[in-house]
Amino acid sequence: MVYKITNQCISCGRCESSCPTGAIKIIAGDRYWIDSSLCTNCVGAYSVAQCAAECPIQDGCVKALTDYWESWFATHDRLVAKLKGTYQADYWERWFNLYSQKLSEQFSKRKQDVVSLEA
Ligand code: SF4
Ligand code: SF4
Repeated sequence: MVYKITNQCISCGRCESSCPTGAIKIIAGDRYWIDSSLCTNCVGAYSVAQCAAECPIQDGCVKALTDYWESWFATHDRLVAKLKGTYQADYWERWFNLYSQKLSEQFSKRKQDVVSLEA
């Protein structure tokens, strides 16, 4: 699993100079890109990925997840972390209540449709 630069990047260039393997390149003028064949996750050189550690914004350099669920939960965690206060604390409860309410409404409607067809 390697790192990648996201569209949140503001092209400050700090990651490029901090990368121990020269994996970070400039493409298309001022866009930064990580060559996955050169990225080592900084293993052996640093205890944390230098690109992510040096990045001045949130989510500029992130792990490039290839597993679907790993990627899904990472996105979920990132989005939930942006929620404020009680919305963050009871996110799943709200989601489950809304989901079960909608499902229940659909079941009721189906049941009414079946009853009216049988009448
Ligand atoms: S994780 Fe390390 S090796 Fe990979 S791009 Fe970032 S700084 Fe370079
Ligand atoms: S350090 Fe972050 S914001 Fe700066 S160029 Fe790299 S990814 Fe973009």
